[in-house]
Amino acid sequence: MTARLIDGRSIAAALRASVARRITSAGFRPGLAVVVLGEDPASAVYVRTKDRAAREAGIDARSIRLPADTTQANLLATIEQLNGDPAIDGILVQLPLPRGIDQHAVIEAIDPAKDVDGFHPLNVGRLADGRPTLTPCTPLGVMKLLLAADVAMSGARAVVLGRSSIVGRPMASLLLAADATVTIVHSRSRDLAGECRRADILIAAVGKPEMVQPGWVRPGATVIDIGINRRPNGRLVGDVAFETCALVAGAITPVPGGVGPMTVACLLENTLNAALRRRLE
Ligand code: NDP
Repeated sequence: MTARLIDGRSIAAALRASVARRITSAGFRPGLAVVVLGEDPASAVYVRTKDRAAREAGIDARSIRLPADTTQANLLATIEQLNGDPAIDGILVQLPLPRGIDQHAVIEAIDPAKDVDGFHPLNVGRLADGRPTLTPCTPLGVMKLLLAADVAMSGARAVVLGRSSIVGRPMASLLLAADATVTIVHSRSRDLAGECRRADILIAAVGKPEMVQPGWVRPGATVIDIGINRRPNGRLVGDVAFETCALVAGAITPVPGGVGPMTVACLLENTLNAALRRRLE
């Protein structure tokens, strides 16, 4: 392997420790509510991880578990109650939601000041406008990885593979705000390999195991792998063929241990920032 490894675990641990220190000096415990519908085992693991990390940082994390057949009206009423609860600074609704529930209506019901996922249209709009806001945790985590790894962004060609609302699009907005020249590619793009090969910074958020091959990577490029995919044998892999791309890239994130830990750490930071802002208003 020739690429420098960008170690998300240690960068995330440093961020969590800094959030914990800021909470201690703020002198109050921010409150985070995580709303979960149903018993999806993958979601349960994420929620437990978030819960533990929040408690360790000094955040009062409250999981609100509702049955899978909860009506949209009941879910909206729960969110309304959390919006009005002064002990709650951050609200996160675990996605995806069961069929029959309008995800947009649910996200739009969250008070934008408590929207620690950064998915509310007001926060999405502010981000697209380059204004400070509560920013989606995964792309925010990627920006922090790039900063920690000293990757120059101003003027760099950045290619984002994937255009989802929760990852690809906000990722592109953040890179643009950092003065990168940004291209987004997706399932209808022509010549994916050629587009990716132009990138100084290549960010894969596609959900296809090891789709990015070494021939897609410009020698020396920084490769950030957001993908989390489970192979039939249970092995966790990213969207990038790590072993072979690491021979070409200049710096690369592993899966696991790259972007994933940053997502949770950024959720804690967003919760603290939301709490501080609410107390200033
Ligand atoms: P989505 O399925 O919502 O979006 C995938 C994107 O990839 C779409 O824009 C889609 O294009 C594009 N795409 C799919 N197939 C191809 C293809 N063959 N060629 C080109 N583009 C393609 O996924 P998410 O954005 O939610 O997640 C992406 C990955 O990141 C997943 O593996 C997910 O598990 C992971 N993830 C990791 C997180 C972390 O904390 N590390 C957090 C969130 C997600 P189109 O729009 O045209 O359909």
